[in-house]
Amino acid sequence: LPGASVHLNEPHLFDLAFVARLHDSHKGSFGDVAVVGGARGMAGAPILAAKAALFSGAGRVYVASIDHGPAYDNAQPELMFRDAANHNFDGSTIVAGPGMGDSATAIRVLARALDGDSPLVLDADALNLIAASPDLQSRLSARHASSILTPHPLEAARLLGVTAGVIQGDRLEAAREIAARFDAYVVLKGSGTIIAMPDGEAAINPTGNPGLASAGTGDVLAGLCGSLMAQGWPARDAALAAVWMHGEAADRLVAQGAGPIGLTAGELPEAIRAVLNRM
Ligand code: AMP
Ligand code: MG
Repeated sequence: LPGASVHLNEPHLFDLAFVARLHDSHKGSFGDVAVVGGARGMAGAPILAAKAALFSGAGRVYVASIDHGPAYDNAQPELMFRDAANHNFDGSTIVAGPGMGDSATAIRVLARALDGDSPLVLDADALNLIAASPDLQSRLSARHASSILTPHPLEAARLLGVTAGVIQGDRLEAAREIAARFDAYVVLKGSGTIIAMPDGEAAINPTGNPGLASAGTGDVLAGLCGSLMAQGWPARDAALAAVWMHGEAADRLVAQGAGPIGLTAGELPEAIRAVLNRM
């Protein structure tokens, strides 16, 4: 396979995708991100993803809640809130899954996103719903626009119908298998995150640390992937860069004494912003 090489994930793999901002750019130049998720009791997950999208440069960021979410976020008043069931996000990059739950509404909203032409990031409950539904699987495989899947090992195990032990036994092979099966870009998370492309190319990520092992950090990664795609990055470069910068941000926070113990997901977006602007 031409793309079957395995790289260490380093900035030279993706840094051609960076473009300087033109002086006359406006918010429409940097894309819209809609984060779909936040069932009852899980409203924070999509807000973390949305915050990551905002702090990494997306032009406009929406949170589309399943189940009547909040109308406003005091800590992040830039965010706009919508009801996922009654809104369509044509023209936006969609990040689906954080705190999405498994209700009938969640399934309906996910099916609509899969059938649309927007670039998609699929995380968390969106992956669990797809794993449980042959119908959603065929909608995913039939997509024309790019899809980035961001499973942790248990989510990957559900997608392949194996145990998490099997995934962890050969992470590279598992990520490539999911990428081939769904014709998608796959980020298999955990220490040494694997990024696998549909053509067989893969990379192993060296950044990041156990400070990331707490709730919400995966939501931040999903929002960052979506934000880069909304800004026009190809899915391959967005996945590679998001994983690298997310880990680099965590490494910098640890160097500053903000972890690994007690590092919180909410601290990552600002650190990601610093990494991104330096690059
Ligand atoms: P999730 O499991 O969805 O909350 O995502 C957790 C995020 O933290 C992913 O980006 C993982 O790759 C990252 N992560 C968790 N534990 C570690 C670790 N020990 N080393 C590096 N990254 C980690
Ligand atoms: Mg997660």
